[in-house]
Amino acid sequence: MDKFTALERFFGYKTFREGQEELIDSILSGRDTLGVMPTGGGKSICFQLPALIFPGVTIVVSPLISLMKDQVTALLQNGIPAVFINRSMTDEAIRCAYRAAVRGEYKLIYVAPERILSKSFTDLCSMLEISIVCVDEAHCVSQWGHDFRPSYLDIAQFVEKLEKRPVVCAFTATATVRVRKDIERLLQLRKPFVSVLGFDRPNLYFEVVKPKNKLVALRRYLDLFSGKSGIVYCSSRKKTDEVFDILSAEVYSVTKYHAGLYRRTRKMNQELFTNDEKKIVVATNAFGMGIDKSDVSFVIHYNMPGDLESYYQEAGRAGRDGSEAYCILLYGHEDIQIQRYFIDHPEENEELSRFEAERLRKQRLERLGAMIDYCETEGCLRAYMLRYFGEKLKGRCKNCSRCNGEIRSVDITLEAQKILSCVARMKECEGIDVVAGVLKGEKTQHITECGYEKLSTFGLLSSDAKSVIYDLITYLLFCGCLCEDENKALHLTQKAHPVLFSSRHIRRREEVRKRSSDAAPVDERLLLRLRSLQKLIAKRESVPAFTVFTDATLRSMAALKPKTQGEMLAVPGVTANKMKKYGAAFLRLIGENIENGA
Ligand code: ADP
Repeated sequence: MDKFTALERFFGYKTFREGQEELIDSILSGRDTLGVMPTGGGKSICFQLPALIFPGVTIVVSPLISLMKDQVTALLQNGIPAVFINRSMTDEAIRCAYRAAVRGEYKLIYVAPERILSKSFTDLCSMLEISIVCVDEAHCVSQWGHDFRPSYLDIAQFVEKLEKRPVVCAFTATATVRVRKDIERLLQLRKPFVSVLGFDRPNLYFEVVKPKNKLVALRRYLDLFSGKSGIVYCSSRKKTDEVFDILSAEVYSVTKYHAGLYRRTRKMNQELFTNDEKKIVVATNAFGMGIDKSDVSFVIHYNMPGDLESYYQEAGRAGRDGSEAYCILLYGHEDIQIQRYFIDHPEENEELSRFEAERLRKQRLERLGAMIDYCETEGCLRAYMLRYFGEKLKGRCKNCSRCNGEIRSVDITLEAQKILSCVARMKECEGIDVVAGVLKGEKTQHITECGYEKLSTFGLLSSDAKSVIYDLITYLLFCGCLCEDENKALHLTQKAHPVLFSSRHIRRREEVRKRSSDAAPVDERLLLRLRSLQKLIAKRESVPAFTVFTDATLRSMAALKPKTQGEMLAVPGVTANKMKKYGAAFLRLIGENIENGA
């Protein structure tokens, strides 16, 4: 099987993203490889695809249980046999996985670094044909990285002990030269092919603000991003609880995540967020590494993190599917105090000597300095960040608060009130088409038969184009002021009342940049329905929603509107396996939507 066939068959894509092909070619040629790619760049395919082409099995060393679980679930969804082995499993389940591995049932085995030198695992490996050892999140091997994991230092020894040396490849999103050099040296890569992809994420908008009152500022942003999925990062568990308590007592759809919660609660809250039952998660930095939710639209830092590596990685969880997304940092001088405290009171780490601990402290102080400079800079934020990671940006980026000014918003309270009261006066029994017609002032047969032209809301938005009215109604659906029942009739929700009867303003973000005009436009209404179906299936099968289809795939569906199986397979991200499992349901939904004349 060649690489293009594998890409299409197992991942549903026709073309490689920037940098992927070179990395895959290098691994396939048998050369050690180091891939540095920004979060969301598509690292996983770079080792998963060669794993499928090579004989035998690929061992993937991965630092987090949630990360392994998500990747393995996504692989299984695409019909690729994979397994993870970690401490979340019972001894019997591990033995069972080992037996299946010996029978050659897996192409990829994910394992935690702490386990690789254990006798049982090395015994297993002596019985396997291992083609590739892949080190994911490879920066964990470096003390210069922000997630140093001493057991990553065992990986070189593990590889050395193998009877036949496999190809060793390593991937990370941390780009600093020091970390890169550490990875090459400490993993003992042999003359590796190194590819460092541009770190710029043009779809991300960066903003730093120094608000007088962070809570007021936070509410303003959350209202602006209403209906979208996002993360609010706080610097401590206490702060996380505090912000969560305030937001959850208000109208926000919010959950929380930090290491102080019971494991079961943490897992449940994470799922509420990944399955979109809660739109916002307030969290410490414990939340994230394994979160492959591709439709996160904003990441707000309520507190400044300790270094730019962490910041870029956390902020980079927004917009992974390439859609426009917002990264906002609320900066205050107290943040510096908090970070200094963390540096002066590090977590106990017995594996470090006093000398090493002191060196680590100095490095952290140095990194904190750069983080503060980023917040204080008058220049382009993106340029500052890229410079830190060793890249140059020509000119200004025009997509950050220093280049563009803060995000603007338009107040649509009046339009929202007109629409909501129209829905109320029509007794909540009509769908979007009739409501839009009444607001536009159209005298269709149905409208006159029902006497809607006599309503005070008839023609209230007659000076707006019909497409604008549709757009506004869709926005109200999107931000939860309206909902649809099974007959597609519009209903007011609890959120609608404060907009109608009190002074609660509703604001809408002004697009910072225009979308490219040559791509087919996304049918936003259809997209809402596709997302509901995706969530329904995910819930039924107890898998994360993005492993059914990613949001980028749903967006393509809502633009291309495939009618046949063949057309569906041509949508990026639709594999034969997923076509078999979900294709019919999604085709049916799209068909109904076309029939209804949307
Ligand atoms: P990373 O690990 O680098 O953060 P992932 O491997 O999780 O990124 O990929 C991010 C997203 O990009 C995933 O939804 C993945 O399916 C998608 N993706 C990867 N490669 C391609 C490609 N060649 N074409 C389209 N989408 C891709």
